[in-house]
Amino acid sequence: MKKLTNKKVSTLVIILGSMTLFTVCYKTQQIANFPLNKAIQPNLIDDLTVSTLADKESLSAYLKSFDEQENTLWHEITNAITITKDEFIAIKNEQEWRSDYNESVQQMLGKKQSKQLISQKNIHLINEVLTSCGIDPKKITIKSSNAFSPAAATDSTLSINEEKFNALSPKMQKYILAHESSHIINQDHSTRCLIDELNDEQKNNNQLKKLIPQLNKFFEIKADIFAMLQGEEFAEGHIEFMELCIRLYGNKPGKNHPSNGERLEIGQHLLTMMQNKSSNQV
Ligand SMILES: [Zn+2]
Repeated sequence: MKKLTNKKVSTLVIILGSMTLFTVCYKTQQIANFPLNKAIQPNLIDDLTVSTLADKESLSAYLKSFDEQENTLWHEITNAITITKDEFIAIKNEQEWRSDYNESVQQMLGKKQSKQLISQKNIHLINEVLTSCGIDPKKITIKSSNAFSPAAATDSTLSINEEKFNALSPKMQKYILAHESSHIINQDHSTRCLIDELNDEQKNNNQLKKLIPQLNKFFEIKADIFAMLQGEEFAEGHIEFMELCIRLYGNKPGKNHPSNGERLEIGQHLLTMMQNKSSNQV
């Protein structure tokens, strides 16, 4: 669930050090068209499978509240980022930046990850969930990992710790893969890396520093919601997984994650709305 650690993010930022764009920060001119504006666009939640659910109105309103909170946060972030026009022009276009980022991630993980193969059974499941979430599995590099989390994703890689992954129920496994799919689809990791890079350059930007963990929490909540909306068994997998996390680690969130209790509560609320749909249809 957890993405690359901060340490790895820093390594990545160093790898991407060819971007010597922000060496001088005059903070004189706010740039309205900052590349991250793409992320301010209404997110996936709005046009997901909402139309297939009978309790559509409550669900739409519930999801909309997350979108609104997130949009407010994005506006605060773009306000906190102040770069000069010259610096802005020096930034490659966003797609180019993300494609360089993906190359760097592939190189970095290629070196660091073990060569151990993932079982055919898990590869099959991964391909199935990626495809049902709308991702072409051929575009994703699947890696074996020894990380703390059962799974983690960048924009183009999915790492699985099979020992931990195999210990989970099939529903939890599906939920986790769909959650990581959301990170892939939304390009959460590269967005985070770009903001971290800006934050590194703007060392005294306390405002931005405070907003980054909040942004990360939204990435997680959105990924949970995306995963649950894939179907009831995914939503049930989310709830099972959160209950397991609370048993094992308590309610305490990581610095960049919402609390397990909050995630469980969102899951229960969403599942209730999804089940209303099932009973209405009978
Ligand atoms: Zn996550």
